This record gives sequence, structure tokens and C-alpha cells, in this order.
Amino acid sequence: GSGTAEVAGPTPMMAQYIEIKAANPDCLLFYRMGDFYELFFSDAETASRALGIVLTKRGKHGGADIPMCGVPVERADDYLSRLIGLGHRVAVCEQTEDPAEAKRRGPKSVVRREVVRLVTPGTITEDRLLDPGSANLLLAIGRRKVSDAAFAYGLAAIDISTGRFALSEVPGADLAGAIARHDPREIVLSDAIHADPALARLWAETRAAVVPLAQAELEPASAERRLREQYGVATLDGFGTFTRAEIAAAGAALLYVARTQLAARAPLCVPTREEAGTTLAIDAATRANLELTRTLSGERVGSLLDAIDRTVSANGARLLAEHLAGPLTELAAIARRHDAVARLVEDRALRAALRDALARAPDLARALSRTGLGRAGPRDLAAIRDGLDVALALGARLADGTDLPDDLARLAKILARADRDLVETLRASLADELPLNRRDGGYVRVGYHPEIDEARLLGSDSRKVVAALQARYAEETGCRTLRIKHNGLLGYFIEVPQSVGEACLKGLMRDFVHRQTMIDAMRFTSVELGALEQKIFGAADRALALEASVFDDLSARIVAQAEAIGGIAEALAALDVAASHAELAVELDWCRPQVDASMSFVIAEGRHPVVEAALRKSGTAFIANDCDLSGEGRGRIRLITGPNMGGKSTYLRQNALIAVLAQVGAFVPAREARIGRVDRLFSRVGAADDLARGQSTFMVEMVETAAILNQATRHSLVILDEIGRGTATYDGLSIAWACLEHLHEANACRSLFATHFHELTALGQRLARLDNATLKVAEHRDGVVFLHEVVPGVAERSYGLQVARIAGLPSAVVARAGAILKGLEKAERERPSRPRIDDLPLFASLAPPPLPEPAIEADDRLGLLLDAIDPDALTPREAMEALYRLKRER
Ligand code: ADP
Repeated sequence: GSGTAEVAGPTPMMAQYIEIKAANPDCLLFYRMGDFYELFFSDAETASRALGIVLTKRGKHGGADIPMCGVPVERADDYLSRLIGLGHRVAVCEQTEDPAEAKRRGPKSVVRREVVRLVTPGTITEDRLLDPGSANLLLAIGRRKVSDAAFAYGLAAIDISTGRFALSEVPGADLAGAIARHDPREIVLSDAIHADPALARLWAETRAAVVPLAQAELEPASAERRLREQYGVATLDGFGTFTRAEIAAAGAALLYVARTQLAARAPLCVPTREEAGTTLAIDAATRANLELTRTLSGERVGSLLDAIDRTVSANGARLLAEHLAGPLTELAAIARRHDAVARLVEDRALRAALRDALARAPDLARALSRTGLGRAGPRDLAAIRDGLDVALALGARLADGTDLPDDLARLAKILARADRDLVETLRASLADELPLNRRDGGYVRVGYHPEIDEARLLGSDSRKVVAALQARYAEETGCRTLRIKHNGLLGYFIEVPQSVGEACLKGLMRDFVHRQTMIDAMRFTSVELGALEQKIFGAADRALALEASVFDDLSARIVAQAEAIGGIAEALAALDVAASHAELAVELDWCRPQVDASMSFVIAEGRHPVVEAALRKSGTAFIANDCDLSGEGRGRIRLITGPNMGGKSTYLRQNALIAVLAQVGAFVPAREARIGRVDRLFSRVGAADDLARGQSTFMVEMVETAAILNQATRHSLVILDEIGRGTATYDGLSIAWACLEHLHEANACRSLFATHFHELTALGQRLARLDNATLKVAEHRDGVVFLHEVVPGVAERSYGLQVARIAGLPSAVVARAGAILKGLEKAERERPSRPRIDDLPLFASLAPPPLPEPAIEADDRLGLLLDAIDPDALTPREAMEALYRLKRER
């Protein structure tokens, strides 16, 4: 022999595992073994780290130990949601035959197993894995060439948990903004798009899991075929016209959904197409900066969405978030939304009735989707029953109203179409108390199905027979302590304690078959008992099977109406959103804005909804401020100077948020608002600390500013806060100046520009539509009070030292800063010619003003220390210490 030890090949089970794993290389494989899902090799290492579960080993492969970890099947959802949350994808591999079957094939046969489902962040449907208040989107991206150098991108957004399917197309420059708007959990695209170096930053920065698919699978012809198959149509003409990029995206989305759901066909609504330009374009930086749906640190609390959300259903909360992410630009659509809100503001009783009913409505959309996927439980059917019931009630309540605004009338009509028969059937068939899972049984109402009742009766009757049998056996054997018991292993059996008498034992041994001897008991069975057991189990199985067929019938009826029910779910959500806006408007005294095609921007007594809410909690009043950027006469661009903490950022943002809210169709925090429709909204903050992105903060600031100057149209709204702050004073001032001129001359859009470069205020004399405003400050002897009131004019001073004192800088430092400032100001005054903003050519060659001697002199320090001593307040011991300290300073 060669003497080398033969390495054993894999066991049959391991061979099966390796084959299945090879087919799902990008997923963690949950491999079903009895009551556990087990993970092997690197999957086990990844999962044990991610989940904090024990890593062990099982058997050997190629001579080495196989790392292994396992999660119990009944707790799998918990583990799945954590893995998904971390961006992993999981392939769930189940046993697809009875283990007994495998044994019959031969002693070495392995149970057949198959991957039944991929669980990925963007394709989950389970309530336990989903956040009720937010959509769970899968976003697929396709593209087409529009010129030699440019692409247009098609986006297909699918929420499997509700069946929503939306298509749109954006130019390349807006791709990042569109992705931020959808805020997907998972992005699917071709490997070609994924590999495009121009887009690499997008994929690196998104919080979504990004899944590239082979370009070969995404050919246009197969994308179209997939769409036709999904909806069982011969042509797509009925859906309207889609661009090639949209079809490509839809095809990729459907391919991926099919791949993750495997056996089940996801019930998706017919795709809706959003016309280009029908939503207010908001890029990713603006979205983040305005904290529309979440704060800069990623939380919902503190965002605009959180401040305005008065919805009472999960369905409504999701739609509100969607609306806020995509404000409208179509005047008629905006006005229709305002009409509906206005009606609900006026009609207090109707609003209360709606909100009351909606709060009771379960999550119809998600229950419907699970039913369509064959993943529903009895409670999902009940959710559909109750949701439709609420719809009918609300439809009737709305229909009572006269002169309903268009939107409400349309919604009322949709609600009234709910199938009353279906509701009645569900009510008659479902029990009052429902189990979570179908397999638990017991969800069909007693009296609904005679055969189920009969089988159940047999089951309970049999239990009485068991009791009778026990009594008889006890009698016959003379063993009073004899019991008939049941467990999963033995089924029914007869048990007597070991202490039973010799005489009894003899009788027992004669009449019964001995099964087990325990420490303190003996167990027997009998032919009679075996037969009874068969009957009992048979009855229970039969009842379960009959219940299952009832369930399937009900599901089929629901699925047959999926489109109508989906429409009803949407209508309920839309009502909730309108009622939420109305409730908020009444609660906080907001007004109906007027949105038109003009260039006006007139806000009277505007407020910042989030800051105001925060101040309200501490009992402080928010100071309302006007804003007019209409540009008639002066004021298309408003330049705002003023002290830090004066309220500049708040003022800038509140006006942007008011525009967003108005175009979302909500009322706004102001006494009056007239806004010429905004096509694009931009907002930038200078030098936000953004080290996490690994770019120089100044570079980021400039890239973002460039995007504004290149993209803002006459109808855009631009908010610039402290642009140029991220670099040396003169660089920054020059950049801010040039940006302001460009905005004024080239973009000519409505803009708010906050700056601490007071030199810029002089531009007001040269630029016709520039207008200076400042935040009012009251000065008195001990410092300043910020009045947060925006007034025309220029800030006189920056009050930096006062702010520093309020912030708690040691008083010695503040005093010293005061001395330095005086020196600087003196040097400035004594300069032969003071630079002015009009002296442009001179400006660049200016040297910075000389600093006074920066080191603190010993005399000064002694003086400061002496100042800090209050002799009357010192104890003798403190006085001694002070003396020593002064001596040390010399
Ligand atoms: P700036 O940008 O000028 O430094 P901010 O806009 O950040 O100032 O405002 C600083 C603080 O002043 C806010 O956190 C808020 O508490 C308060 N504030 C701002 N505007 C107002 C206002 N209009 N009414 C009341 N308080 C305000």
C-alpha cells in the first residue's frame, strides 16, 4: 500500500448539503435537520458571529472538522430578522419528504431537501420581520442610452408585502435622488450597471443590500416576457407605454422576486407608471439635510414625518411616508388633496368617524399579500374580514355626505365596492379565537361545516371513551392507581406505579403487553387501546384536513378579488393620510396653502414644525416669521446674516419644509402661504462634519454646491446655509460671493442664503433681486437675547463672544477673547485702505490682518487669577491655597 491515509469522501448528507449550497452561493443556507436549521462551514462562522450563538462542529470534511451552528425552527423568525437586518440573504432549505420515506429507499438514503425560499431584506412578507409603519421596498434598476455619454435609468419599486409595483424613469443626474426617495432595503441591477465606475459611490453609500444579476439574464426580450407572464397577458399595451429602461428594471425585479419566492407567484398589482416631472425632485443631500423622513443620525423621531404623522393605521403611516418622500408638482392633483383635507378640517364629525374606524382596520394590504403567496395564517383571513368590514362602513358614511370633494368621492366609491358576501362568509366561517398557524387547527367556527364538527366530536368523545376504559381496566386488574396516559413517543399507554402489588402485576402481565419499565412506574399497552388511538388520531387528522380545505376555499375567494381588495387597502390608507393632515391642521392651527403656477413665495407667520414641537415640550414659544421671495421689486434671493444661535438655519429650513408640505397636499404651519409650484428643491449646509464618508468635508460641500448651480431652474427653491465655511476665510468668502452671483444671474431661482460673511451684505446694492435680512437681537448690559425675529437689514455684530459665554466657556477665556477681538478691530481700523466688497480685483491680493501677540503674558494671567478671587467668600484654607497658586504663577 502507499501508506497514505485515505481521506473519507463526504457522507451522503454532506454531499447533499454541498450540492444545495453550491446552487445558492450568495446566501446563508438554513439546512433543515429535524427541529433545527443548521449552518455549516463559513456560513456557520458568519451566523454564529452575527447572532452570538455557539459555534460547534459536526463530522469531518476533507479531513478537517466542519464548523456548525444551529437555530431552533420555532425561533427561526427572530434569527432571520436579525440576519436580514444586517443585510444577509438566507436560503431556507426544508425536508421535502417524510424521513420514513427515505429510510424505505435504503439505509444510506438521505431525506430529500429543497430550498423553498430565499429570505432577503427586500422580499420579506412576515409581520414579525416587517416594520408596520414603513414600506419594505425592492428597487430594480435598468437603463437605456439617451446619448453617447448619457443614460436614463428605469426604476421598478416593488413592495412584496403589499403588492405595490411602481415604475419610473429618471435622467442619470437624478438617480441618486430617486434611490434616496424610495429608500429601498434591497437593490437589484445588472452587473454592468453595478460595475459602472461613475456609479460606484452610490452602491457604496446606500444602506440597501445591493444584488447584481448577470446581464445575460436581463435581455429586453426576456424582461418583456416576464412581465407578460406575471399578469397573464399577451401584450403590455394595456398597461400604458413604458420606456426600455423601465421594462428592463421591471424584468429584473420580477426575475429576482421569482427567484426569492420560488414556489409561490407573488401577487403584484399592475405596475403604475409615474410620469417624469410629476414629483418634486429632491436630491439625496437635500433629503438628508431637511430630515424629511429621518434625521441625519438615521432616526424617525425628530424627522418631519414624525412631527406630522397623525395617522392611525400602519397602512396610512406607510402612505404618508411615501407622499412625503415624493411631493407632487401637478397643480390639480395638489389641489384635490387640499380639498379633501379642507373638508375633513371643517367636518369634525366625519373626521372623528373616519379616524375611529381606521384605527380598528387591520393591515389589509399585508394580509392580502400573504394570502396570495400561500403564506397566510387564520389571522390574516380575519384581517381581511375586518378590513373589508371597515371599508363598507366608511364607504357608507362618506356616501352620506353631500358635495364631497373629488378625492373623497372617488375613495368612497372604491370602498363601497368591498364584497359584502365575502365579509359574511369570513364572519360565519372563522372562529372568535384564532391560532397563529393553520397547522394548529381550530380556526373554523363551530356550526360552519358539519363534517368538521363531527370529526371534532369524535375526537372529544374518544377522550371520554379513554376515561371509561381506564376505569374498566382499574376495575378488572384491581389496581386503583392504574392510569391511561399519552405522550408523543408511545402514544396512549397504561401506567401503574412500581409499588403495585404482586397480585395486580400478574394480572397486568397477562392482559397487557409490557412496553417500558421506569424507575417508579411500568407501562403497558393493549390491542383495544391501540385501536382507540387510531380512531382518535384519525378524527383529529380528518378535522385538520377539512379545516385546511375550508381555508383554501376562503383564500381562493380572496385571491380572486386581490385587485379590488388591494384598491380598497390603498383607499383606506389615502383616507387615513387626509384625515391625519386635517387632524394636525386643527391641532396646531395650520393653514391651507395656495399652490399655483406663479413664481411667488409668500409665507406669513411661518413656523418650523419640528423645532416648534420641541420648544413646545419645554414650554417655549416659537417666533413665527414671514418670508417673501416672490421677486416682485426685490427679494428673489434673501441673504440672511445674524449671530450664531439666532435662528438662521431654522428659518431657512422652515421655508423649505413649508414648500414640501404644501406640495405633498398637506396644510402648512403658517397663517398664510402662497407658493408658486417648486420643480426642484435644493438644500446645502456648509461643512457638516461628514468624516464618515471619508471625503474632505469641503470637497463634499463643493460637489453638492456645484450640483445646485448646474441643476437649479427658475422654478427651483434653493436653501444655502453657510456655504464656504469649510475653508479659509478668504477662499470661503470668494466662493460664497461667486455662488450668490451665479444664483442671482444664471439660476434666477427663489433662494435663501445664510452666511456669516458680513461682507456679502454689500452685494445687496449691486444685485437687483438680492435682499438682506437679519435676526434681531436685544442687547443689554450682561449680554444678549436672541429674539429669533427675521427683520430687513444687516446684522451689526456677530455676538460670538456672547454665545461663547452662554455656552459656558470659562469666563477667563471669554475675557481674553474680548481683548484679542479689540486688538483685531483696532488693527483693521488703522489699515490705510479698508477692503470693501466692491474692490473686487484688490480683494484677492489682500493679506490677512496681522494678529496681536498671541501668547498670554504672565501679567495677564496673574491679573485673571486675581480677578477670580473673591476674598470675602474664601475660607482661610482656600485663601492659603490661592496665595500659593499666585506664587507659583510668577
Ligand atoms: P443659527 O442657524 O442662526 O445658528 P438655529 O437656527 O440653529 O440658529 O437656532 C438655534 C436655536 O434657536 C434653535 O435650536 C431653537 O431652539 C432656537 N430658535 C431658532 N429659531 C427660533 C424661533 N423662530 N423661535 C424660537 N426659537 C427659535
